[in-house]
Amino acid sequence: MPTQLVYAREPFNSDDRADLIFRTRDGVHFLVHKQIIMTWSPYWEMQLLALEQEEAETWRRKLQYDSAGNPIIPVEEDSATLDALLRHVYPGDAPAPEGFAEAFALLAAARKYEVTTVVKLAKRSVAGLADTNPLRVYALAAARGWDHEMRTAARAALGHPMLPELYAQELEDLHAGTYFRLLAYHRACVKEVVARTADLHWVEVLAAERGWQPQMGRCQIEGCGGAWFGKHLVAVRKALRARPRAKTLDDPQLLSAALGGAMVCGVCRSTAYHDLQMFNALLAEEINRVLEGIELEIK
Ligand SMILES: [Zn+2]
Repeated sequence: MPTQLVYAREPFNSDDRADLIFRTRDGVHFLVHKQIIMTWSPYWEMQLLALEQEEAETWRRKLQYDSAGNPIIPVEEDSATLDALLRHVYPGDAPAPEGFAEAFALLAAARKYEVTTVVKLAKRSVAGLADTNPLRVYALAAARGWDHEMRTAARAALGHPMLPELYAQELEDLHAGTYFRLLAYHRACVKEVVARTADLHWVEVLAAERGWQPQMGRCQIEGCGGAWFGKHLVAVRKALRARPRAKTLDDPQLLSAALGGAMVCGVCRSTAYHDLQMFNALLAEEINRVLEGIELEIK
């Protein structure tokens, strides 16, 4: 008498047309359809085609079958992960993963089974988690040898000024060298980005290319002389030292403080807004260009 199988949640629990069963690590059975699985997963397409061929005789003999004669294939994933993956393959609602473990498990499974759309979705989830907790994502990605996610986390960490003071439980398992390289990347980004606000020669070159004539350096009015822009640069530099990325320039306080300074000058008043917009746009581009050139070292 065969033991009663534990089945997954709907719709993977009762379907007469199902012709394949996945058994997860935690012993849950998912009734699925070969055709759907093969359409979405080149990995399974190859495996299942092999299963149908004669060379797979030994593998076939090793497999178990349910009462309807459908093969039961064991998979390494747990039921929560397989459920999440299959819901993106089957029609219907498929929520994006929310927690760290869920997102990483889904990405690992999607990569292994080569389900491209789910890889993209899970990558977005991991990137979202990196924005709020870059250190944790960095450590989790490092543990799996996922270079892409390590780089995503390192880039996201540029929005976190106190990086060396952050702690995550996952640090306990992170190699000191791998952690050092994250901090080194962060330091290099601060240094290079801040340097672009020290020597502004490049702004003149780009401004000329775009037909923009910055007025702020030309103001001759006594008591102004474009000093407000100098103050703005100091504020921008300070902000970039904490968060060396283009998004830092979007802080409305930076813009309003600069405009407040310019308003007291009869000349700068009319040109400051446009000048600041142009300057910020060019600086953002320049920061992105600089960051593109700095690579997190991965060993
Ligand atoms: Zn002025």
